[in-house]
Amino acid sequence: MAKRVYLTTAIPYVNAAPHVGHALELVQSDCLARFHRALGHDVFWSWGADENSLKNVQAAEAEGIPTQKLVDKYAKQFADLGKALNLTFDVFNRTSEKHHFAGAQKLWSLCKKEDIYKKIYRGLYCVGCELFYTKDELVDSKCPEHGDVIEEVEEENYFFALSNYQRYLERLILTDQLRITPISRKNEVLSFIKGGLEDFSISRSVERARGWGVNVPDDPNQVMYVWFDALTTYLTALGYPGGDLYKKYWIDNPNRIHVIGKGIIRFHAVYWIAMLASAGLPLPKEEFVHGYITVEGQKISKSLGNVIDPFDLVEKFGVDPVRYYLLREIPAWGDGDFSIERFRDLYNGELANGLGNLVARVARLASDVELTLPAKKNFKFKKEVSDNLKIYRFDQALLAIWDETGALDRRINEEKPWELEGRTLKKVIGPIAGVIREIAFNLSPFLPATSAKILDQFTGKISAEKPLFPRF
Ligand SMILES: [Zn+2]
Repeated sequence: MAKRVYLTTAIPYVNAAPHVGHALELVQSDCLARFHRALGHDVFWSWGADENSLKNVQAAEAEGIPTQKLVDKYAKQFADLGKALNLTFDVFNRTSEKHHFAGAQKLWSLCKKEDIYKKIYRGLYCVGCELFYTKDELVDSKCPEHGDVIEEVEEENYFFALSNYQRYLERLILTDQLRITPISRKNEVLSFIKGGLEDFSISRSVERARGWGVNVPDDPNQVMYVWFDALTTYLTALGYPGGDLYKKYWIDNPNRIHVIGKGIIRFHAVYWIAMLASAGLPLPKEEFVHGYITVEGQKISKSLGNVIDPFDLVEKFGVDPVRYYLLREIPAWGDGDFSIERFRDLYNGELANGLGNLVARVARLASDVELTLPAKKNFKFKKEVSDNLKIYRFDQALLAIWDETGALDRRINEEKPWELEGRTLKKVIGPIAGVIREIAFNLSPFLPATSAKILDQFTGKISAEKPLFPRF
């Protein structure tokens, strides 16, 4: 039986159009899904939209439309971004849908009775983060993430007894039973846990939530804290509480992998794990945590006017160059920057003059002697590529492939096949064309359209075609 993999991508708040920062995580996830499928694994990849947040309610009020209409509009834009980026997710799970409500309520009711209790709460709440902060976490009384002024709120909420899971979580992460990559993020979570885990509020009054969200079971006055329901997407995307997919990919499969950004690591590595443990459900096995993207050295923000529209980029340069930039230029284990100048440099230097030129040279020589390559199915990933992808080093994996294109370029310059003709040329160019195909296969998780084009061009009778990457 094929190895199973359940891969998830975090679901964005759908209260504004997607920007280039969203594209990073999506392209990384797609690369992983394609890699596992190419290895013959049985992959299910879920993604979707986080629709029950108060942020969405406020954005809808600002636009003067009903909240459902707002989330419909932006959820569609995110799903369209999926198409534009050539993503292969299996489901786009929206948390305002009824089946998700049923799943979130089921998970709540499965949590141990002693883990959920009611109390009056007073706290500093940032609506933007949907998070309570302590006084010393604030910067000048403002949210450290948003810079918004934070208000103190008081109400009776349900609480989750996270403090019951302190030692459990610490051990789980320390022993890599829950593996967090990169290790710097693992250490960050461990130090957060060691600092002491406090119980957290998991509901809001219906008034404060403006009646939007998932009702708490058996309490008409409370809706779930958006994170409690949002995390359940990883189950409801599989049809939870019922469903064959849930059984197949969550219960009967150990390879449950979450891809998330560094800003939401607490929710995924601490809260979510404790919730699942309390409910007696299987836990994820791995969490890969990527960093953030700045644009021209600045934090992406509407007010700075530096929001890069990923649709524009794809339309102008094509989807694979955008994927290439994100996977190769942004350090997989850290933060990175998006700059148009750097984008053009990489495009012209490594794609057009590098890979594109190499493929065109070889195709021209091969077509001169009417070289024919038989179809081939049993390609293998280079060791450096698969080893790096197993630890989410997309950048290193691509560098290894570019090392090989560089080596092939040098080999061609040494063998000078353009000085040869007829059978001698055929003998020299045949193996070189074979290497081109290997390179194309190795590129398939990263640049799927380019890879398919090259493999197609180099199967059967090889022809010289239009350049892969026209120059800008
Ligand atoms: Zn905030």
